[in-house]
Amino acid sequence: MAWPYFLDCDRFFVSDQEGCYDPLVMLRASQETALARMSPEEPSTIIQFTYQSNAQMINVLKKTASKCSDVARTYSIGRSVEGKDLLVIEFSDNPGQHDLLEPEVKLIANMHGNEVLGRQLLIYLTQYLCSEYLLGNHRIQTLINNTRIHIFPSMNPDGYDLAAAEGHVYNGWTSGRANAQNIDLNRNFPDLTSIAYSRRRNKRYRTDHIPIPDSYWFGKVAPETYAVMKWIRSIPFVQSASLHGGELVVSYPYDFSKHPLEEKMFSPTPDEQAFKQLARTYADAHTTMADNDTDRCGASFGRKGGIINGALWYSFAGGMSDFNYLHTNCFEITVELGCDKFPAEEELYTEWKRNKEALLSFMESVHRGIKGIVKDEQGNGIKGASISIRGIRHDIRTAEDGDYWRLVNSGVHILTASAPGYTKVMKKVFLPAQMQKAGRVDFVLKKAVLEPEQVDFPAMDTYDRFDPYNQFERYSLSELGENGEDRQEKPWWWGYFTQFGESTPTWLLRSY
Ligand code: ZN
Repeated sequence: MAWPYFLDCDRFFVSDQEGCYDPLVMLRASQETALARMSPEEPSTIIQFTYQSNAQMINVLKKTASKCSDVARTYSIGRSVEGKDLLVIEFSDNPGQHDLLEPEVKLIANMHGNEVLGRQLLIYLTQYLCSEYLLGNHRIQTLINNTRIHIFPSMNPDGYDLAAAEGHVYNGWTSGRANAQNIDLNRNFPDLTSIAYSRRRNKRYRTDHIPIPDSYWFGKVAPETYAVMKWIRSIPFVQSASLHGGELVVSYPYDFSKHPLEEKMFSPTPDEQAFKQLARTYADAHTTMADNDTDRCGASFGRKGGIINGALWYSFAGGMSDFNYLHTNCFEITVELGCDKFPAEEELYTEWKRNKEALLSFMESVHRGIKGIVKDEQGNGIKGASISIRGIRHDIRTAEDGDYWRLVNSGVHILTASAPGYTKVMKKVFLPAQMQKAGRVDFVLKKAVLEPEQVDFPAMDTYDRFDPYNQFERYSLSELGENGEDRQEKPWWWGYFTQFGESTPTWLLRSY
């Protein structure tokens, strides 16, 4: 292989036959800790374990994507308040497109601008994935060839700038946490959890694909929040991790307490078992997270094995993870990487070693549960069909080509596939423990003539019209209209509100 090392040696680096070294890093840390090596005999990935500015980060991501152009690309999902690109790097054997039955996973960091470790870990991870793929690392090649991975190292680059200006020694607990409008992005998502709770009196209530309430749009919506909402609505993500700092624990939804007056209350989703397994996947593969010392960052709370239900830790509304779960198919956990939100540079390599296996295991764990395709009798995939599991009040919907993924623990499950205009199909599935990949369960639905009252969920087109996001094109499409003209300068939600006029449409009354 002509290109065994990640770094090009520019004038800041010294090189020998084995690769490029930053003499400053070599001085700062021991040789052992400056370089990540698989083994002394084999060529290995070399990463600079330093902090990177926003410009340097963008540069690393773009450089990585061009080194690995067969399996990587970068794309922007929008801009921050101060106009910085919100850049994502994607790894896949077919970058830029969804492959049938191939699960999609995302990793997000630096949502709080002053929680910077996750951002660095994700930058290192992109370099590691690219380099190891090229070096022929079998595990990494298998992962990338079978998974579409989206890595978003900095959701709040404006906040990062503020925190980085203070630096490791002076950065306090909150400086740079919020975005440039002083909005805490992890409180800025629509509060769908309250809606889910208010539905519980209804016998047949579900907790999925809850529309964004109108009132949300009258509040302040940060551009970073908006960009992420649009992003997670346009890609069929299966699972996600959001990396934070300030504690050492993995928390999972709900983050908002089911009791309005109880700020620390166990508030499980219908997918408690699957979420616990997902959280454990990260905590167990981390070198110290699952240890049972309960007050390592000064606060004592009821974590077990390094994981905790979010609302049991502390309750808050408007979080990103609850939104993922209640509005889309995606299951998101929150990873608190350590007590120090802004560790010293010398700690970065140690932290990479602590988290590397956890990050890899988390991405690999998307190949669990059940997946398949829902088709009609002609063999065409049915988009937007619901997959229900008996006993779990949370449905998953099929993607564009009728494919779906259902994270669920081992055992016997009764699955039902349904779609408007088709008859339901039910299947009993046994998912063995220790299964190394997702079980495949396909459905063929027959056309049916249904009476309107037999439709017990809102039809897809109703849902689409209700949701203001559908007034927008996907972020990857051109900003120009079909004929190349600029789009109208109306607010993006304009069409949504003007569509209905004064009267409430009757179908709204029927949707829960
Ligand atoms: Zn945070």
